Amino acid sequence: MKKVKVIKIDVDKCNGCRACEVVCSAFHAAPKYSSTNPERSRIRVLWDPLKDIYVPVLAGEYTEAECNGRDIYTIDGKEYDECSFCRASCPSRNLFKDPDSDLPLKCDMCEEEPPLPEPLCVQWCLSDALTYEEREEEGEEEEKLGEMEVGLESLIKKHGAKTVMDTVARLAKE
Ligand code: SF4
Ligand code: SF4
Repeated sequence: MKKVKVIKIDVDKCNGCRACEVVCSAFHAAPKYSSTNPERSRIRVLWDPLKDIYVPVLAGEYTEAECNGRDIYTIDGKEYDECSFCRASCPSRNLFKDPDSDLPLKCDMCEEEPPLPEPLCVQWCLSDALTYEEREEEGEEEEKLGEMEVGLESLIKKHGAKTVMDTVARLAKE
């Protein structure tokens, strides 16, 4: 079993205070908590008071190339910009890039030692727009395969693919 960490976002409860951006950027400052800069945050709040909406978006995977297509969302009859709700750090925009190094940013769930009871953006969201839960998922087989692959790769590097294959074939017969 593997542990899956989930931040649930209730858009209706977000008031656009941006406390989540402040604390996330402070946590990821160097040294930690030495400064704040929302552009360094791994969570950004899509802010559009005219459309009466604030949508927190957590930074996801980095992508090397921008999409060939675009999505346009219409919610309650209001149309939102292309890419508004996308989580990727992507070349087509400045969102989720470190302002100093330009390196992509990705939410790391505030990994810390000892672990935090909850991610900081959740702790600082006083309107409960962000809530945290952990759940167990079937994942053992996948993890074992991963370990096996890592092990096999190192064996192949050390002994060569043919030797490893011959050894596996011999052991399978025994
Ligand atoms: S702290 Fe909560 S209410 Fe404030 S902007 Fe972030 S998600 Fe919205
Ligand atoms: S979980 Fe932590 S790293 Fe991720 S957005 Fe929230 S404060 Fe930032």
